[in-house]
Amino acid sequence: MSAPVRIAVVGLGKIARDQHLPAIAGDPGFTLAATASREGEGAGVPHFASLDALLADGPPVDAVALCTPPQVRYDLAAAAIGRGLHVFLEKPPGATLAEVVALDALAARAGVTLFASWHSRFAAGVAPARDWLAARTVRRVAITWREDVRVWHPGQRWIWEAGGLGVFDPGINALSIATAILPHPFFLQDAVLQFPANRDAPIAADLRFRDATGAPVTMDLDFRQTGPQSWDIVVDTDDGTLTLSNGGAVLMLPDGERRAPDREYPALYARFAELIAGGECDVDVAPLRHVADAFLRGRHERVEPFHD
Ligand code: NAP
Repeated sequence: MSAPVRIAVVGLGKIARDQHLPAIAGDPGFTLAATASREGEGAGVPHFASLDALLADGPPVDAVALCTPPQVRYDLAAAAIGRGLHVFLEKPPGATLAEVVALDALAARAGVTLFASWHSRFAAGVAPARDWLAARTVRRVAITWREDVRVWHPGQRWIWEAGGLGVFDPGINALSIATAILPHPFFLQDAVLQFPANRDAPIAADLRFRDATGAPVTMDLDFRQTGPQSWDIVVDTDDGTLTLSNGGAVLMLPDGERRAPDREYPALYARFAELIAGGECDVDVAPLRHVADAFLRGRHERVEPFHD
């Protein structure tokens, strides 16, 4: 068995602490070598105020996991690739499509692994949903992703800044699932994006796509949802209805419900290890491309200011 991959985690915020550090601790293929974050104490390993400082003075590392907001990810990833390190990108992989494509080329040239991760694709219901849909005709798809931004993103200013994606920060997870499970590509027809008067990213969006066979795909995103939260995809087919709920964790098929334990981040690290061992990259920009299309083709409306 080869030695564990020595990994540094950069950006010790919510997702790094909730998911990355436990997933790394639970995976014998990795060992946490260092952390970098402007604030905070670290996690019991050498801690640095920046990736540059870590690369200059830190212990040797083979890989980095970039858990910062997307707006600063390109420079970090380019620096790591430039040092010959493998790179795990949190979603979304960047603030623009062009920078992600450029990173892919940099990684290929450097011969390192670049993994643009989409954690929701590893939710328990997603692979069986894709397999079930592959043999059926899709008639209609309805995506509803409505959550309370005050509960899930308290104090995250970056999410409201340009490149932070606003309600598309969770919405892109739905798109990562839809692009993985639907048997045909789908294209934006029209969209309305609602921007609070005091913010640079949308708080809600309504999108209408159609797939290559003409089946409608609707998407309802809202950050103002109080009470029950919705992370659901409903697919009507010629053979009954498939429902993926809880962000892909629960799959309902005409013959009953399927549930399995949540293994999204352990599965992401297993995939990263597999890519490193195989000398491969995995960079699928399809979900980010749909978001870019929404900003490009959607009508932008101003709505009342949002206050935390
Ligand atoms: P977060 O709690 O705000 O953490 C991001 C961390 O990045 C901050 O703690 C900050 O640490 C560091 N950072 C570096 N440069 C920054 C900058 N210019 N502005 C703000 N922070 C900066 O955010 P998060 O929820 O962990 O999300 C981070 C990424 O993971 C996002 O792309 C998000 O879409 C993705 N993600 C989040 C979740 C979730 O449930 N929260 C789930 C899956 C994926 P320092 O200030 O110490 O440098």
